[in-house]
Amino acid sequence: MEKVRVRFAPSPTGPLHMGGVRTALFNYLFARKHDGSMILRIEDTDQNRYVEGAEEYIMEALAWCGIEIDEGIQEGEEFGPYRQSERSNLYSRYANTLIENGWAYVAFDTPESLQSLREKAESKKETFTYDHKTRHQLDNSLNIGMEAAQKRIDNGDAYVVRFEMPESKTLNIRDIIRGDMHFNSGNLDDKVLFKSDGLPTYHLANIVDDHLMEITHVIRGEEWLPSLPLHVMLYHALGWSTPEFAHLPLILKPTGKGKLSKRDGDKMGFPVFPVEWKTKAGDVFQGYRENGYYPEAFVNMLALLGWNPGTEKELFSMDELITHFDLDKVNKAGARFDPEKAKWFNHQYLIRQSNHDITEEFMPMLKKKGYQPDMDTLTTIVSLVKERVSFVSELWEQTDFFFEAPSEYHQKFRKKAVKNDTPEILQSIRDILAAQDDFSSANLENKVKTWIENNELGFGKVMNPLRLALVGEGKGPHVFDILEILGKEESLKRIDVLLENIQDS
Ligand code: GLU
Repeated sequence: MEKVRVRFAPSPTGPLHMGGVRTALFNYLFARKHDGSMILRIEDTDQNRYVEGAEEYIMEALAWCGIEIDEGIQEGEEFGPYRQSERSNLYSRYANTLIENGWAYVAFDTPESLQSLREKAESKKETFTYDHKTRHQLDNSLNIGMEAAQKRIDNGDAYVVRFEMPESKTLNIRDIIRGDMHFNSGNLDDKVLFKSDGLPTYHLANIVDDHLMEITHVIRGEEWLPSLPLHVMLYHALGWSTPEFAHLPLILKPTGKGKLSKRDGDKMGFPVFPVEWKTKAGDVFQGYRENGYYPEAFVNMLALLGWNPGTEKELFSMDELITHFDLDKVNKAGARFDPEKAKWFNHQYLIRQSNHDITEEFMPMLKKKGYQPDMDTLTTIVSLVKERVSFVSELWEQTDFFFEAPSEYHQKFRKKAVKNDTPEILQSIRDILAAQDDFSSANLENKVKTWIENNELGFGKVMNPLRLALVGEGKGPHVFDILEILGKEESLKRIDVLLENIQDS
């Protein structure tokens, strides 16, 4: 196989949505798997849609995900420049070749005249299309002749170049994911290739650049499928061979209905952007990074949106993804995004972090709250509760009682824990604990359990009030571990507070 060269070609029209990141990821995995090159090309020919900061955002998001670029606006230059606005002098040549070869024509129709044609059609419940049925009644070089057209161009009349889509041609196109597809050119319109502002449209620039950059595989979102016949026609018209194509399935809303849109995250309470995006107007869109996701978890989750490894294995490092990934195993059907599954992935990555690393992330959060436990104690606390959280930020909720004695008791749990004989039991446990020099979890467990057995009591009768005293509610790790960490003095204090509280009520 020739050297694989793939490209991720975003338009800097705003932040990169997770669907875009997935496209970049699949390109990257494919490139790495085949020892190929990953190219980042910025498609910024539509100046009206250019959004400041979008390019930087794209680079930052890809870097956060660990998607490395071999050639792009900052790397490599053999096939550059990699920003289409810096290649603008390159495209008109190809538009002219197409005109000369009878594949394209010059059109002078003004936006106003086209708008009025659209409205006229709409009033008859029809749609206006610039195509083989209408092109001969419109203001273009097919009707007035190229000579007259050239005169108008020289006079400064605004014009565009349109592709002359054949009236009826069957196109058989193979897509790695979708297999063989057939299109009839008669249903397609005469797309604009070159605009009055002297810049190419996406279609022309994309084809020219893919050819000049020697792209071997075009891997992109399903939304580009309708453009595929035009692109293939353009390759033929320019006498170039086509790259291979792979159109990735859509990412669907959690309901399974409809494409996941940029606005869904805020509506449904999960991020759709890899990293946070702030608009000029001051709106903030949540990012996975800022929401506490590990990039590895985010990437792992994304990889499985549409790709089926064919086994039960769900956790993949980037290297494993590179080894196992295959475009043949990408589904055609849309992939439903499940925000709960995204959290599950983060949980899996979190519990695999070392306790030390999690503690280092957690410590600054505690410091902000005014606590400064020693590293060893906090590492132990983290080890006890990490199985219960998906994000480091959730650790506080699971550990607050280690730092603050309960200020009140959870009503329902108090009812369950406190019975008539509770004061007596709790007092006995207090005495046992007070008598221990060895305040280790194992020793305390041993002593308390022996006492429970000797008195033939139910375990809950003792453990529930004890937990209530220490934690204030039913949550938390093993009670004896909590005792050990709190230490004798603090534990006894909390038991006394509960005893007093019971007596007062
Ligand atoms: N510039 C297009 C986009 O914004 C690229 C489509 C393609 O990969 O051909 O997605």
